[in-house]
Amino acid sequence: IRTFSAYGGAVDQRVYGASKAAEYGAVAVLVRSMTTRQDDVPHTGTSVYDEEIKQIPAISISTNDANMLSDLLLKEQVIVSIQNNAQPMGERTSHSVIGEIKGSEFPNEIILVGGHLDSWDVGAGAHDDGAGCVHSLQVVRTMLKLGYKPKRTIRCVMFQNEENGLAGGREYARISNEKGEYHLAALESDSGGFVPRGFSFEGHADVLKPFYKHVSQWLPLLESYGLQFSTGGSGADIGPLKSQKGLLIGLRPDSQRYFDYHHTDIDRIDAVNQRELELGAAAMTSLIYLIDKYGLQ
Ligand SMILES: [Zn+2]
Repeated sequence: IRTFSAYGGAVDQRVYGASKAAEYGAVAVLVRSMTTRQDDVPHTGTSVYDEEIKQIPAISISTNDANMLSDLLLKEQVIVSIQNNAQPMGERTSHSVIGEIKGSEFPNEIILVGGHLDSWDVGAGAHDDGAGCVHSLQVVRTMLKLGYKPKRTIRCVMFQNEENGLAGGREYARISNEKGEYHLAALESDSGGFVPRGFSFEGHADVLKPFYKHVSQWLPLLESYGLQFSTGGSGADIGPLKSQKGLLIGLRPDSQRYFDYHHTDIDRIDAVNQRELELGAAAMTSLIYLIDKYGLQ
């Protein structure tokens, strides 16, 4: 099951549902959690209000509770009382965290590996996106441990504020463009710490075809580890780098359990399997090594 497609197809109900319902006179909305599992855990996430329409409370409820409510509604009138203490607390400055190994031959060609440091306040954000941060750190750490000296600059970026509007990714790209930097490639891990199944590639129309053709010749080296290549989305935080015309890449781990934990109180470290996490880091390190060693043309 393509769980990310399912999420992408349904999440507008959470994002825009409150304003849509308010248009029809709703005083609040109960949102069925965006998950592929039947469980008792509410899954939170972004909701966006239409400025023109009255802003009403939006509360996510678990899939089991939503099913129960739906069944009851078929039989009788239901009265729900809501107690909500969530409120906007304003904005504060927070920072992305960046470290790098300078390239020995082509220091101006940056290869970025990254994830995002922030998470929703329920749970700990272990899969979303602690795993991506650890994956990215591990790429750099593995190179250091092996004594590998990259030709190109390998930069690890743990982006701030992915979840609430991508401020970290946008600001990173803005400063990078201002400095005239060039990201030859950027690889983001933001789909959990599960068994890696491959990578998906995107980029500016001018470069995607030749770059993708070039990386595809490495597929035989990675296929035996269960890794596949495809074109498609990469990562939200690296998206703003597209105009630099490098190759944007997303790690694609097995997605069947990702939305069991996504944006919940149970997205904690005990939900992450160490071996699966390590395999993701190994897959990323292998691809970054190939790009560093052979370039993209
Ligand atoms: Zn995320």
